[in-house]
Amino acid sequence: MRKEHKTIEIGVFKILKSIKSIFVHIRSSLKFIFLIIIATVLIVGIISLVYRPMYSVTLNGEFIGYTTNKSKLQKRINEYIEYGDGNENIAFIDVQSLPEYSLCLLKKENKTNDDEIFEKIKNSGTTYYEYYAIVEKSEEKYYVSTKDEAEKIINKLKEKKSRNIDDLAYTQIHSTELKNFKDTESIITALYEKPKIVVASAYSTYSGERIISNAVPSSKVLGIGLIKPVSGIITSRFGVRSSGNHKGLDIATSTGTPVAAAAGGTVIFSGWDSYGLGNCVKISHGNGVVTVYGHCSKLYVTSGEKVSAGEAIAAVGSTGNSTGPHLHLEIRVNGSPQNPQLYLYK
Ligand SMILES: [Zn+2]
Repeated sequence: MRKEHKTIEIGVFKILKSIKSIFVHIRSSLKFIFLIIIATVLIVGIISLVYRPMYSVTLNGEFIGYTTNKSKLQKRINEYIEYGDGNENIAFIDVQSLPEYSLCLLKKENKTNDDEIFEKIKNSGTTYYEYYAIVEKSEEKYYVSTKDEAEKIINKLKEKKSRNIDDLAYTQIHSTELKNFKDTESIITALYEKPKIVVASAYSTYSGERIISNAVPSSKVLGIGLIKPVSGIITSRFGVRSSGNHKGLDIATSTGTPVAAAAGGTVIFSGWDSYGLGNCVKISHGNGVVTVYGHCSKLYVTSGEKVSAGEAIAAVGSTGNSTGPHLHLEIRVNGSPQNPQLYLYK
């Protein structure tokens, strides 16, 4: 009985001892795990002071920058491809390849540059714009953003009977190049040409055939057709008169009567003549022929303007060295005044 009791005591002691050793073992394990956690936190802490995760961005295999916010950057790129950068004239954007991202741990001093990356991707693509050109004689003259503006310009010029309306049109442009747009009003102003007023059909006299005359100063061949600029009464002829040499022909008629261009040509002067002709127009017709219209009350043309025969260029008046309303008409060939009555008002 006693011996049995002793055996049991030894058994219990053994069990307790082994339980204790398990606890000791667990405790040392926990301590070890705890140490590992502390160490990890410390290492991560130290690393995160110096490093941080970033995406390295490449485009066609070429490094273009770092970003921390991949989804935000990609969203911006997608929106750009779909909607453009807010320019209403973008037709579509052709981006050849999209960027690739790879996550890496980098020193904090590496700067992110989302804006630069975005610009590089933007520039790698091709933007196609859509806008409208106002063309004159098939030459692109001005550009506007919308079809409405282009239509408005053409319609307005049609309404105002602009002389060049038959040469004007608009066309849609698709281009990778965006032009400077002008506002509709200034385009209308720039393109507008005063409508032609043809007044001279009733005055027509000379058919443009060669005129050979024996009258002084000799027989000049103009080689161009001339029409009478006004009808009226001849009050002073070409040639010498008491006050000096009269270089033209005076035709009297009422103030305001339209003066027609004697032939088509280019206006080389329109303004005040300080030698006595007052408001004056000079037209070059080619072949060395220039016609001069003096004493006008109004001038309808400007220097450099092209005019056609019979077009109203001025109104009869009495400006400058004049005693009553009349047109002073000169015909000059190679600079020397001819007798207008060789050709007109014969
Ligand atoms: Zn005169």
